[in-house]
Amino acid sequence: MESLEDILRNATKAIQSAPDLKTLDNIRVQYLGKKGQLTDYLKTLGQLSPEERPLAGQKINTVKESLQALIEERTHQFKYALIAEQLAAEAIDVSLPGRSQEVGSIHPITKTFQNLQQIFTQMGFIVLDGPEIEDDYHNFAALNFPELHPARAMQDTFYFANGMLLRTHMSTVQIRAMIQMPPPLRMVAMGRVYRNEFDITHTPMFHQMECLMIDEHVSFADLKGLLQEFLYAFFSKDIAIRFRPSYFPFTEPSAEVDIACVSCNGKGCRICKKSGWLEVLGCGMVHPNVLKMAGIDSERFQGLAFGAGVDRLALLKYGISDLRSLFENDLRFLKQF
Ligand SMILES: [Zn+2]
Repeated sequence: MESLEDILRNATKAIQSAPDLKTLDNIRVQYLGKKGQLTDYLKTLGQLSPEERPLAGQKINTVKESLQALIEERTHQFKYALIAEQLAAEAIDVSLPGRSQEVGSIHPITKTFQNLQQIFTQMGFIVLDGPEIEDDYHNFAALNFPELHPARAMQDTFYFANGMLLRTHMSTVQIRAMIQMPPPLRMVAMGRVYRNEFDITHTPMFHQMECLMIDEHVSFADLKGLLQEFLYAFFSKDIAIRFRPSYFPFTEPSAEVDIACVSCNGKGCRICKKSGWLEVLGCGMVHPNVLKMAGIDSERFQGLAFGAGVDRLALLKYGISDLRSLFENDLRFLKQF
């Protein structure tokens, strides 16, 4: 058998040179385990005389304690190294410059909405809003769309499983207002509307504003005056307008309105396709059927209404050439406004 001193020396050497926790544990078993060398040594105590036993036992215990202390110290070293390694791997370089949040600006569409609101509230109109998810009645039926009118075709808007749909125009808000508010009524509504079409000049979602005025003795001349006033306020200049006869189910008579090209003042350019005119809105006198459906006495009251694409108005006002730039959210573009 090795002497106690040899065991202590060999074990100490092994512990100090152990490369990892697993080897260290094997060494512990080899010396201090149930069948370990030191345990074997303890078993030999029985062979000694009673006088020799206490001293020998004390020596063995001293060796055992010092080996235990050594193993414990090495274990700590390994665990500490492991933590240090982990910390190094997860280290954050705090000197690295961060990614900053860019400051946005008010979108040209929002600015146009604000501008329109200001113009019409100054003229005594109220601004109303309504739901974007509508029923067939408010979007079509109440607006005098015949049952088989092409605008009611499935592909013209987005339908939900329960028969509800995304509103195709702001007229839905007018219908709700006419039913709830007895005339005289002067209102504008503006917001998002939807059509199931998408190409270079159409987006499935776009913005619209509609204006409605119901009172006694309202005529087409009032409509013309109102439009002239509105366009003057919006473009900050006098603009020639012309009416072209048109058809909408909810107005009679109906007209489309062209304005002299704001870019070339009617001389003809790329924006107006050399015609000198730009088509900007549709208008007309509210159809008596629509008034009747809203419970308004169509003998006593008349209504005028017009609607315009807000995206188009914004493009013309700010001289933006591509509709798509309104939807790309490119800060370099948006910051110009
Ligand atoms: Zn032009």
